[in-house]
Amino acid sequence: MNWHLFNLDEIRELTKASRDGLRVADAKARLLTAGPNELTQKEKKSALSIFIDQLRDFMTLVLIAAAIISGIVGDRTDTIIILAIVVLNALLGFLQQFRAEKAMEALNRMGDPTCSVWREGGPETIPVRAVVPGDIVLLDAGNVVPADLRLLETQTLTVMEAALTGESVPVQKSAQALSGDMHSLGDRLNMAYKGTQVTNGRGRGLVVATGMNTEIGQIARLLQAPESETPLQSRMRDFGKNLSVFVLAICVVLFIVGLLRGEAPLTMLLLAISLAVAAIPEALPALITIALSRGAAQLARGKALVRKLTAVETLGSVTYICTDKTGTLTQNKMTVAGAEPVPTPLDEEAGMPLLHLAMALNHSVQFQGTELVGDPTETALVRYVREEGAAGSVELLMERFPIVRELPFDSDRKIMTTVHRFDGGHLVLVKGAAESVSERLLPGPRREELAARVAGLAAEGKRVLAFAFKTIAQLPEEASGHMLESELAFAGIAALYDPPRPGIAKAIAACKSAGIRPVMITGDHPQTAAAIARHIGLLEDEGRVVTGKELEGWSGPEFEAVVEQIAVYARVSPSQKLRIVEALQRRKQYVAMTGDGVNDAPSLRKANIGIAMGITGTDVSKEAAHMILLDDNFSTIVKAVREGRRIYDNIRRFVKYIMTCNTAEIWTIFLAPLLGLPMPLLPVHLLWINLVTDGLPGLALSAEKAERNIMTRPPRPAGESLFAQGNGAHILWVGLLMAALTLGTQAVALQKALPHWQTLVFTVLSLSQLGHVWAIRSDEEFIYRKGFFSNPLLTLTLAGTFLLQLAVVYLPAANALFHTQPLTLRELLSCIAIAALPFHAVELEKWIRARRRSHAAPVAPDRRPGSCDNDHLSIQSRS
Ligand code: ATP
Repeated sequence: MNWHLFNLDEIRELTKASRDGLRVADAKARLLTAGPNELTQKEKKSALSIFIDQLRDFMTLVLIAAAIISGIVGDRTDTIIILAIVVLNALLGFLQQFRAEKAMEALNRMGDPTCSVWREGGPETIPVRAVVPGDIVLLDAGNVVPADLRLLETQTLTVMEAALTGESVPVQKSAQALSGDMHSLGDRLNMAYKGTQVTNGRGRGLVVATGMNTEIGQIARLLQAPESETPLQSRMRDFGKNLSVFVLAICVVLFIVGLLRGEAPLTMLLLAISLAVAAIPEALPALITIALSRGAAQLARGKALVRKLTAVETLGSVTYICTDKTGTLTQNKMTVAGAEPVPTPLDEEAGMPLLHLAMALNHSVQFQGTELVGDPTETALVRYVREEGAAGSVELLMERFPIVRELPFDSDRKIMTTVHRFDGGHLVLVKGAAESVSERLLPGPRREELAARVAGLAAEGKRVLAFAFKTIAQLPEEASGHMLESELAFAGIAALYDPPRPGIAKAIAACKSAGIRPVMITGDHPQTAAAIARHIGLLEDEGRVVTGKELEGWSGPEFEAVVEQIAVYARVSPSQKLRIVEALQRRKQYVAMTGDGVNDAPSLRKANIGIAMGITGTDVSKEAAHMILLDDNFSTIVKAVREGRRIYDNIRRFVKYIMTCNTAEIWTIFLAPLLGLPMPLLPVHLLWINLVTDGLPGLALSAEKAERNIMTRPPRPAGESLFAQGNGAHILWVGLLMAALTLGTQAVALQKALPHWQTLVFTVLSLSQLGHVWAIRSDEEFIYRKGFFSNPLLTLTLAGTFLLQLAVVYLPAANALFHTQPLTLRELLSCIAIAALPFHAVELEKWIRARRRSHAAPVAPDRRPGSCDNDHLSIQSRS
């Protein structure tokens, strides 16, 4: 439909819209007919197809085939029990996969975006999903356009339409009707399309299409990229493939050796295939997904919403956290500490110092009853003139000097300009960062005076805004920013104070002791930034403060040489943030970076973990980020890093656990013939061990609490293998130890001619896995210190697994199925004692490692706490 060619009345008619916005009941009814405003997701996998996927695994299919053949030619019981275990295993795999999918779905739902609409005569924030044709949408810089809109009014509205047209320069929009022939999408200046980004200005638009009916909806199918795996998941998948080849090779050798020794071919075939099924860790990818998505849910409870699962696994590798100041380190609760007007020729006409008039007029604050809604800097200024009675009624002043033009604030220009009708002509009011205003003043002594005063206030940690003005008789239609914002006269300054967030000094100290360097990047004055940074312990004597201007003067290599020493960047523009991330990354640092504006999107994307602000952040920054801070608080990042480290530790743990189990099985079966022993286990035994020991205790390990030293050890190198730091060696030697104990038991039992030697072997191998899982709950701490039962989920799982093992040994029905015989109490206790040895061996390993470490690293990590404990600067709240 050519919506851009209709005039506004026709559009209203067509969409049956009203000037005051839709009535809520009407909107509800429209939602039912139009459907939710979303791009339909790719089809979900049904539960059945997830289950069938589990059985489709190649080795499982071979096992089923082999079991059926062996049933036809020989023992039916074995076939039945093997098939039952295969189905149970598939069921377990299904449950894990299903939970992983559900957890991912829940996560995706949590990040649901919202937008502002005008309904029943007032603004309302609603989920983007609930927008319907006929709604009036309010657009602001940083918004992602929620639906296709015919624009009703615009104020310097520019929109980036690259997602739709490929054009990477933002387009200036207007509400005027277009005439003529078809315009291509990029030329439809009076339209704003779903999914495009408002880079500047404000506007209102009438919704003409939602969901799949929008322009982007038409091409949505092309855009649905397959979900990408996290680096860990793909590494694990590749590892699984390589391991399968290796295990299969071992099984072939095993099969041939068996045949040469004169074993029955079918028995050997079944054993070899069962070993392959047991030893290939097919559950690992699902377990990792579950651990990551459960971790993400936990992070969300802690107010860090993960948008990309990668962030969960990489949080633990962060070495630099680059953070904004306002709102993240400080409370973003500004109060005006003092206003210093200078006399101007317009004071008389205004009836007050012009500074106060400018504070009352130059803003985009909305008045909702007595409440002020808008940017905290501006609401503080308005509240000041309102409460101090400096400017009488702000609303009356706004009516008396109505606004006719506005150049909104942006972090690059660092100023905002409004033009008002005034005394038969126009009054231009400019407010902003002192340097930005100063360079637009008429030449004169004011500039030095201003710089000196600002430096004094900034050193006390205050944010200073300068105000300037000029009058113009005529306001040209096409008045440029340069024309309006030059040759200004000075009106005065206002100093604001924004207190640090409570607990921030502690969070900064925690960061440092965890080997992470916090860096402040702010648009504020260098002295203000340094004062706050010093106060919260972020800036130490050796830390440097660098301004955007200095940064501009440095070449790439010059900057890289010093980037790691800089603790505070001030007066930087968002585009420079990208340079900072890139320089740090070139120095091999792993960077988390916060941002809230549209212009922050590139640096958020580039950062290893881009973090957007949930409360003050723009939609565009949220879309670009890997994680969203629901409370905008720096301390939340530090907590998330701690949680990320814990989650990763636990993933490492269950990989270690499952791989050690599998190695033990391989060693046992492989070494037995070499030592001249008969096959120690039957296929069903291997499958049973795989079923009860692999999945459940592994999952319970991901509920393990954090290690004591979690935030005093350095970050883990990014991309480090799960088998680094001794994990690989552990898997091999503990596996070998378990196999040695199992085979030793076999040898002794055979020597004593015990008829039920195989039950003893089976029990020892099974139980030693449980002892092992208990020991690896901590990499460093002895379990008696950590507490044997401090992970209730694991305790429960182990108790259940132990009882199941007893059932297989003692229940007559199970004896027939599993070819087992009951053990005497003495034998059972002996099995338990032997199976406890790997537990003690792992505890001994911890002791040896701790000793080695204490010899090798006498230097303690930097644990210097933040330079102060209280979070209040000694600044009076108002002068
Ligand atoms: P951070 O980057 O840590 O959030 P910031 O809020 O100071 O710090 P910006 O929002 O980019 O960064 O602001 C930069 C400067 O622009 C401020 O120091 C202030 O002088 C000025 N400024 C901020 N808000 C406004 C505004 N609404 N109107 C005019 N000038 C402003």
